Amino acid sequence: MSDPGRRPPKFPLRLEQMAPARKPVVDAPPGAGPTAPPPVVPRRMLLRPQQPLQHAAAIAARISAPTGLGLDSTGVRHRMIERLRAEGLTHDGVLDAMAHVPRHLFVDAALVAQAYEDTSLPIGHGQTISKPSVVARMIELMMGGANARAGQLRRVLEIGTGCGYQAAVLARLAKQVLSIERVKPLHDKARELLAPLRMNHLRLVYGDGMLGHAPNAPYDGIIAAAGGDALPSAWLDQLAIGGRIVAPVRDTGESQTLVVLDRTEAGFVRSTHEVVQFVPLKSGLVR
Ligand code: SAH
Repeated sequence: MSDPGRRPPKFPLRLEQMAPARKPVVDAPPGAGPTAPPPVVPRRMLLRPQQPLQHAAAIAARISAPTGLGLDSTGVRHRMIERLRAEGLTHDGVLDAMAHVPRHLFVDAALVAQAYEDTSLPIGHGQTISKPSVVARMIELMMGGANARAGQLRRVLEIGTGCGYQAAVLARLAKQVLSIERVKPLHDKARELLAPLRMNHLRLVYGDGMLGHAPNAPYDGIIAAAGGDALPSAWLDQLAIGGRIVAPVRDTGESQTLVVLDRTEAGFVRSTHEVVQFVPLKSGLVR
């Protein structure tokens, strides 16, 4: 007979035997495997109310990034860059900028394992973060033509901030970037996500990008992350001579084509490029 004194008592339960009353807010990501350290403290408990909002967002982003997958290391980003090179994207400046922007901080915690795959991902409100290869291609196009001869981009206007990823890449390449978003909750979220990156020359505006942003015009580059039926006339008016617009434009039916419009001393020169698929460019604001 075993010694009853050695058996652990059934009651009261030891603290570590007790099941948590509620599921922690932060779950281990799917596929993280048994080696990923289990999150011990729910995220909400770590957000200190005395911290300014942008610090809270930065902390939340760090906590939800599964460090077990190594997404916080530069290695995973460099592998993405190598894949983009293999696909024929060759602009060193653009690839270098993308190697420095942590895309996993811009996607939802549940999708973070796919952050460095060449895929678009939902960001809420029916919108998506663009595929890395499309971001690279569009910025590469914008930096071509007269902009390539001029050297560094001075002012760039982005239409459709979304989560702010492309804006962060642009901010590494231009002296001043202005990014407009028509959906208020997305604009607010991008502001929180971008705050820890401290890009003082990147300005986010809540507004209808179909009207451009006249106060800061003219722009060397205007880049649209949403596709309409035509290029809005405000963009043409606000483009500097020597500047370039890169935007998806709907052709017949549902397909869209990347359009490049150069403004020269003599007028506008248009060229068309790949077939693409972007969310629609819409007018008006969403609160
Ligand atoms: N730039 C983002 C992509 C965002 S998706 C990235 O880095 O991945 C495109 C965004 O364009 C959506 O958030 C959508 O709300 C926005 N959009 C659509 N029409 C717009 C308009 N007229 N003005 C401003 N933003 C617009």
